[in-house]
Amino acid sequence: MVADAAGVPGAADVTFEDLAHLVALPSVADGAHEVALSATADEVVRLFSQAGVDDVRRVPTDDGTDTVLGHSPGPEGAPTVLLYSHYDVQPADPAEWTSSPWELTERDGRLYGRGAADCKGNLVMLLTALRSLPKPWPVGVRIVCEGSEEMSKGGLGRLVGTDPGLFAADVMLVADSGNIERGVPTVTTSLRGTGSVLVTVRTMASPGHSGSYGGAAPDALAALIAMLATLRDQAGDTTVTGLDNSGRWAGADYPEDRFAGDARVLPGVRLLGSGSVADSVWARPAATVLAIDAPSIADATAAVQHEARALVGLRVPPSQDAARAQRLLVAHLEGAAPWGAQVTVEPRTLGQGWALTGRGRGYDALAHAMRTSFGADLVEAGQGGAIPLCNELQTAHPEAEILLIGVEEPACHIHAADESLDPEEFRRTAQAVALMLQELGS
Ligand SMILES: [Zn+2]
Repeated sequence: MVADAAGVPGAADVTFEDLAHLVALPSVADGAHEVALSATADEVVRLFSQAGVDDVRRVPTDDGTDTVLGHSPGPEGAPTVLLYSHYDVQPADPAEWTSSPWELTERDGRLYGRGAADCKGNLVMLLTALRSLPKPWPVGVRIVCEGSEEMSKGGLGRLVGTDPGLFAADVMLVADSGNIERGVPTVTTSLRGTGSVLVTVRTMASPGHSGSYGGAAPDALAALIAMLATLRDQAGDTTVTGLDNSGRWAGADYPEDRFAGDARVLPGVRLLGSGSVADSVWARPAATVLAIDAPSIADATAAVQHEARALVGLRVPPSQDAARAQRLLVAHLEGAAPWGAQVTVEPRTLGQGWALTGRGRGYDALAHAMRTSFGADLVEAGQGGAIPLCNELQTAHPEAEILLIGVEEPACHIHAADESLDPEEFRRTAQAVALMLQELGS
């Protein structure tokens, strides 16, 4: 790696050898890829050590995977910046991919492979930024590279709770996100929380023949469908009694046509909600029926069902208390049962949302750096899903500025087949991180 005059990576300096090497290791944290997962952890230790980070090592977590940590203290008085990424990846079925998910492959200017963006692309982006800066670095640097992010095993989060000192930093750059659109530098400032429930409806002791009983028999599946239908109004807004659904998103716009493309909505099918797309996915709660237990069509008989179950996911914006929202959903479904049907509603997963509160020197440095490398102003976006680690880091270090950024953009199709990386987004983001570290240290 050669730094250009400004001390930041130029186009010619970026190579993707390390990324190719990492992508070739199928580091899925599902218990079936332990050799690859461990080899990847070793490789991450080697790469960050070579890049100049001190004391890089594997630290076991209680979920059976190791997090890679490293720390180079900065000059007296300089801030410390934590650089987060993860080295595990989503599974990939080669049959669904155009080229092997485990071989970084260039096509039409993009680089394809599992983890090319999420999150090995981000990992190598951070490495690229560090390599471009001469040592000694102007800031303290902490490396945190997780081994079980995609499986949500939570080992790292619990390690943050038990040993917060390992994660002490003024600015935490969580590189597991990206830009709302190619070329639009984005920081994610809001993550929705979750509050799912399992609802069970019982109406009879056993199924009844639909010829003998259908018409008068209290159909449990019909009862469940009626209850679930009360979770949405005509406009498509989520309607849980007592739960505010009027939030507005103040940051970047999310145009409907772009959303429809990102979500792969079919032609002629309309989007839901009375607000803007950004309001609906970043600032408001959303209930989604995730699964229903009922006879499958293959197993169907002519019977009125005596019992049915549904798993309902609830996304809760950070401005609202997720536990309260979950309680409201439980009460709503209990109250929506028709015909005196017996209903039990059990709370399942629960996680509070997260929002960036203070915009301090870290945010300012990021905004300057992004403007320089992208030639465009930094915009703020939300993310509809949760990253529990952000809450855990924030709880351990309430003063830290947590900034979510990264090389991802919608065309990356993270978690899907044919995941890919745009090398130009990669280069600009690496450059921005290097510039940000320089500014924070000056
Ligand atoms: Zn990720």
